[in-house]
Amino acid sequence: MSEHREVVVIGSGPAGLTAAVYTARANLHPVVLEGEPSSTSDQPGGQLMLTTDVENFPGFPDGITGPELMSNMRAQALRFGADIRTVKASKVDFSERPFKIWVGATDAEPTLTADAVIVSTGAQSMMLGLEAEQRLIGRGLSTCATCDGFFFRDREIAVVGGGDSALEEAMFLTRFASKVTIIHRRDELRASKIMQDRAHANEKIEFMWDTVVTDINGENSVESVSVKNLKTGEERDIDFAGIFVAIGHRPGSDLFRGQLELKDNGYIVTEAKSTKTSVEGVFACGDVQDDYYRQAITAAGSGCSAAIDAERWLESIA
Ligand code: NAP
Repeated sequence: MSEHREVVVIGSGPAGLTAAVYTARANLHPVVLEGEPSSTSDQPGGQLMLTTDVENFPGFPDGITGPELMSNMRAQALRFGADIRTVKASKVDFSERPFKIWVGATDAEPTLTADAVIVSTGAQSMMLGLEAEQRLIGRGLSTCATCDGFFFRDREIAVVGGGDSALEEAMFLTRFASKVTIIHRRDELRASKIMQDRAHANEKIEFMWDTVVTDINGENSVESVSVKNLKTGEERDIDFAGIFVAIGHRPGSDLFRGQLELKDNGYIVTEAKSTKTSVEGVFACGDVQDDYYRQAITAAGSGCSAAIDAERWLESIA
């Protein structure tokens, strides 16, 4: 038999846990499917679990570590009665109400049915696929200049990628770093012309063309980066205090393909100024629907919006 709930939250980063706090305090008894532990951001707590110091989340004047922040948010949701389960949704059916959600086997009865669903499955930064990335993420290796640029005052750092994100990250980083080297695998940028012009005009930015990163070195922090020139085959190690990987993001929306309207880049479409998706009663918040701001605080804010949208919608159909 399926278990019926008023609200099911899928995902447990800042957006999902904020939605859980709000819906729990509104007596909606949410079930939160928080995901299962893994070594990627696709795990309970989301991308902040891969971050060391968070200095830009308001309320923590001395900063807080990403895992501690997420543990606090989880404890806060539990305190108000959120039913958090360490499992992953394996299938959803939003074609009729109540909505159906499966955990595990998808050929049986749905595990849960729900009047409203809040989707907060986040996004993952694409990584280079190097073993060192697991060890050094949050220790000099970052995927967010806005979050971590401040730690590299007067240091030399590298940015990997050739798209708008890489150039934007590089330009932001020049506020802190003494020099920023953009390492790109081709000799032509993918970024828009205006961004290219700005980057070329920035005296602190240098380009390393036709080059791939083959390793990132350092035990507890980034010390150097091994690179290979794809045209000449030359390999060398270059000292960098930090490396920012900016080769794109992937939203965690695979589960919702065919169920919710997605943008071409895979992000869930939400109505302007709301968290409503293409299906009435299903709301989306956080990075799975935000390809623009991508911050913990904006994710948390949209989690609050999704909870209020869900609450009002449930009232409207009662
Ligand atoms: P993107 O446009 O897909 O660019 C990704 C870059 O990373 C490409 O240069 C790609 O190289 C490189 N890359 C991909 N996989 C790689 C790998 N394994 N190793 C090394 N390099 C790799 O992604 P994005 O820059 O995140 O931008 C996503 C979208 O958001 C774009 O539409 C962009 O215009 C938009 N955006 C706009 C702004 C803005 O306007 N201010 C800012 C950020 C993003 P290749 O070029 O060789 O494929």
